[in-house]
Amino acid sequence: MESMGLSVNRQPSTVNGFRNLIGQARAVRLLQRGLATGRTPHAYLFTGREGIGKRAAALSLAQALNCQQGDAVDDGCGACQSCRKIARGLHPDVQLIEPAGATLKIEQVRALEADAVLGPYEAKRKVFILDNAEKMTEQAANALLKTLEEPPGRTVIVLLTTTPSALPSTIVSRCQTVSFSAIPPETLEAFIVGRGVDPTRARLIVSWSGGSIGRALSQEAASLAEARDLLLEELGRGLRDGPAALIELAEKLAKDREGLPLNLEVLSAWLRDLMVAKASGRQEWLVNLDRGEDVARQAEGLTLDAILDGLRAVHATMAGLSRNANPRLSLEDLFLQIRGAASSGLLRV
Ligand SMILES: [Zn+2]
Repeated sequence: MESMGLSVNRQPSTVNGFRNLIGQARAVRLLQRGLATGRTPHAYLFTGREGIGKRAAALSLAQALNCQQGDAVDDGCGACQSCRKIARGLHPDVQLIEPAGATLKIEQVRALEADAVLGPYEAKRKVFILDNAEKMTEQAANALLKTLEEPPGRTVIVLLTTTPSALPSTIVSRCQTVSFSAIPPETLEAFIVGRGVDPTRARLIVSWSGGSIGRALSQEAASLAEARDLLLEELGRGLRDGPAALIELAEKLAKDREGLPLNLEVLSAWLRDLMVAKASGRQEWLVNLDRGEDVARQAEGLTLDAILDGLRAVHATMAGLSRNANPRLSLEDLFLQIRGAASSGLLRV
């Protein structure tokens, strides 16, 4: 049975049951309690930042609800036909609905409603997962509210959002909220190392990822160390060559608006490491583990105050850019401040 929904996405997702979801024990416990008691609510709201497993958890919930393995109660077996179809995005009763363009539209909610009324086709429960639910238009939200007020039998609706505050409170109050937390750094580090990431680079990736699996496994993460090396090399050259070279570098980097946050985060992590090295001398605490010797050497030539000044300047620049400051001027200012801090902080012994 094909849904008449617009943009019903059936792309396979990485999902294989709750037991494979990392760093979300609390959320999983809450979901499994509902499953074990047979009292799964009609609607859930999964909240938490991008890339931490909300979607995988929703699909795992669909697996657990529909698993054909007799004794599986609180987790899908991952092997039966139903579990496999869900994992591959091919189950007719489990639909992942994403915004069609910029918004989740009323037509999409109406299609969901029409489909829900028909009941499950082959599953025990029909599951609708609405990703980026905060992108619902007002009309879509009103239509969904009606469905939530009179939920069709044997249907579970799961809303996923990074920003629950952007959803109408009338919708939020009709869902059971399950909050997903950022994955603890050591858990995420072990996970990506298990996926083949160089252990000396894993911490840099984890620090940049902000606890998101999606970010930690992204293309950007894979080239993070190279991006850092290039930036440090160019900045080092600029610091040696003088203000004109730094202004030129600022102009070049400012042109790449998308890459700017990454460059600043990389710089922040580097300065943070200089501080750690200066204050503690502990290599094992560094984020840039793969360049521990360079960190130690640079830290030796700088005072703690100079490093702190640099770090403050980077964070002030980040804050300024988030308030729409001019990127080129902000970077010029930053690099000249770093130059000032570095030259004043040199220990001339
Ligand atoms: Zn199963």
